[in-house]
Amino acid sequence: MAGKEPDTAEDIDDDDDDWMKYANTGFGETDYSLWDDVAPVEEDVEHAVEVAMQLGTHVEEIPRAPSAAGHKYLVRQGTCDACLGRVGGKRMYGQSLEEAGLGVRTSVVDQDPHLENAREEAPLCPFCENLFEEVDLLADLIHEAMAPYDLSRLQLGARFPKDQMETEEDLRKRLGAGGSDPLKSSLVEQIGARLKDRLEGVALVNDKPDILALIDVLTLTVELDIRAVYVYGRYRKLERGIPQTRWPCRACKGRGCERCDETGLQYKRSVQDLVGNPMLEVFEGTEHAFHGMGREDIDVRCLGRGRPFVLEIKEPKKRAFNAEKLAEIINQAANGSVEVSSIRASSRSEVVRIKDTPAEKSYTIRFTIEPMNEAEYAVLTAPVDMTKEDVQQRSKKRRRQRRGDKNADRTKPLEAPIDVPATGPSEAELKAMKKPELVALAEQHGLAKNGKKDELVARILAALPPAPAEFELPDDATILRVIEGMNGLKLAQRTPERVAHRRSDLIRKRTVFEAHTPFIEVNEQGQREIEFTLRCESGTYVKETVHGDSGRTQPCVAALIKAKCNVLWLDVGDIHAD
Ligand SMILES: [Zn+2]
Ligand SMILES: [Zn+2]
Repeated sequence: MAGKEPDTAEDIDDDDDDWMKYANTGFGETDYSLWDDVAPVEEDVEHAVEVAMQLGTHVEEIPRAPSAAGHKYLVRQGTCDACLGRVGGKRMYGQSLEEAGLGVRTSVVDQDPHLENAREEAPLCPFCENLFEEVDLLADLIHEAMAPYDLSRLQLGARFPKDQMETEEDLRKRLGAGGSDPLKSSLVEQIGARLKDRLEGVALVNDKPDILALIDVLTLTVELDIRAVYVYGRYRKLERGIPQTRWPCRACKGRGCERCDETGLQYKRSVQDLVGNPMLEVFEGTEHAFHGMGREDIDVRCLGRGRPFVLEIKEPKKRAFNAEKLAEIINQAANGSVEVSSIRASSRSEVVRIKDTPAEKSYTIRFTIEPMNEAEYAVLTAPVDMTKEDVQQRSKKRRRQRRGDKNADRTKPLEAPIDVPATGPSEAELKAMKKPELVALAEQHGLAKNGKKDELVARILAALPPAPAEFELPDDATILRVIEGMNGLKLAQRTPERVAHRRSDLIRKRTVFEAHTPFIEVNEQGQREIEFTLRCESGTYVKETVHGDSGRTQPCVAALIKAKCNVLWLDVGDIHAD
């Protein structure tokens, strides 16, 4: 199954923040208490006071490393070699923690031989709770867990109980030498040192890892966070009826039912699956997510150089790939429905760019025409109220700005009554009616309802206002001239009714940059079909630019040529970005 695609760039940023929580030293703090059964700190303090008195120092002063008394105190407390090395303040360049710690211990024992068995007498290191003894085990665990995965960058992290962190911090500040390394970073460093020689071609890093190995010191387990692989490419959709991303079956919401043949999908195919499924095999991942630079409707093809996208493969076992070979595998499996090109490695940050790039596009559109009457023309050209009214100010609720919205877009349309002259039915319409309908119509207008059908028609025609006049269909030259004259045309587009449920009802200003290569063909039914290509601003509703959407898009081709336009199909040609 594919993962949920992030809705916006912000969602992706949030994800990144989550990663940072784990990657930084302050991450993953829990408030469970690991050492509930360990002697409380007060006892240590009592003991410290005792020691301080024996040493003849002031009662409240506990000796601190790197003084000799401090070292002696640390040893007596049962501090392990690694922690002695870490907080003792005697570590020299190139020395391991244990080596430095052993040095400290040796000099203390030389002075006080009875402290030789201090670790046996106080077997739990107060600083690390003997965690440094588990370093080899943890390194083994990480090495084992990583085995199935290809990687070149490994980051280590650790998760500690919060109170253990606080206790250690406090102890280190009171007893340790100034500038001693914190427990967490030292432990991670030790494990890294153990792993170093066993990782062929893998670098230990502090950012952008392929895998982040998270050590849980409470359970002594390791959890791997395997970063996704991102692949950039462009796709051409050569067949209609394929959505860009997977749609769960409406009947079963993706669980699988009879209606969807147990696939859980509303449409068997999607660009996402056609591109992503072969990649899932190549990279041996668990699922994929598709990030397109915009999308086309299901019935719209995408031609030209294709639409840029980034495909995300989650938890991949393989990371390296040959771009040409990968494109070949995808294209062969798609069998002419979808075609990819420009394949290359990508990154998480490119997903944000892809999602945020407003792309102008070229479209090719084809439509037929029908006669239009004056009433219909009046609707298509009724004045649009462009009153500036800031939606954010009107509704106090904070509205999230969406891609493609500009600040200048915040014009909420006001309902303007359309002034259409009263019209009656035409003679042809009346003649097509059945007699009982004519009788009902006559009665409705207070006319006599007797007589034959012809008499009724004549009576109604005489009594009601005339039918709206129909415009003559434009000739070919007029159509071509109008289309070619659309270069630079500024549109006012009110959110189409078909998308009103998911976009706010606003009037947006959009520009047709170019309209070219119009031509007219006569189809088998003897109708003229008109086709042309146009390049317009990101966010333009293209079908509406042709048919006018009942006056919601102005001007429109239909109003300009005074004929109703029925859109047959729409293709996306080039996306003018990247
Ligand atoms: Zn220790
Ligand atoms: Zn289903």
